[in-house]
Amino acid sequence: MITVLRLGHRPARDKRVTTHVALTARVFGADAVLVSTRDPVLERTVRNVVRRFGGSFRILTGVPWRRTLQDWNGPKVHLTMYGLPIEDVLTRIPRENLLIVIGAEKVPREVYDLVDFNVAVGNQPHSEVAALAVFLDRLHGGRSIRAEAAAQVRIRPNPRGKSVNGSGR
Ligand code: SAM
Repeated sequence: MITVLRLGHRPARDKRVTTHVALTARVFGADAVLVSTRDPVLERTVRNVVRRFGGSFRILTGVPWRRTLQDWNGPKVHLTMYGLPIEDVLTRIPRENLLIVIGAEKVPREVYDLVDFNVAVGNQPHSEVAALAVFLDRLHGGRSIRAEAAAQVRIRPNPRGKSVNGSGR
């Protein structure tokens, strides 16, 4: 079980990025995303994708992040450019009930102490979506892109156009 905790989501500003965080988490092998700010529109958007494209990925918003970190029963990883290089720590991270924390703007200092590992995907600033994708893909040894679940909508790979079975609407 792998859960992503998204901190600092601002519904008006971060709508697209947090949607991308959730969809990336789903496809790259996480089971759920928890978002610290309540956002029913975001929940609806992500659940709609899950309904059409399949699987059991879950989203919950309005989750108290501090209590979640304090009570979490499993290893906790915070993705941050200030952390230790992913290539040095990855093998030390237990996989059982793993919580992966990512930020939006400035992450509160206490997060760095509440987790077990602060991990950098390169020590340069980039994006939470990129950091999450690379981390999950490395965690799964490059096999993270999820095999398709039974879905209303199925895309058939096509070298030039778009081939889709079903509409799921
Ligand atoms: N300046 C912010 C801070 O001090 O926390 C970082 C903002 S960054 C746009 C948003 C999130 O992307 C970060 O909280 C972190 O989770 C992730 N991120 C960005 N660059 C990263 C890197 N090199 N390695 C790991 N995570 C990174």
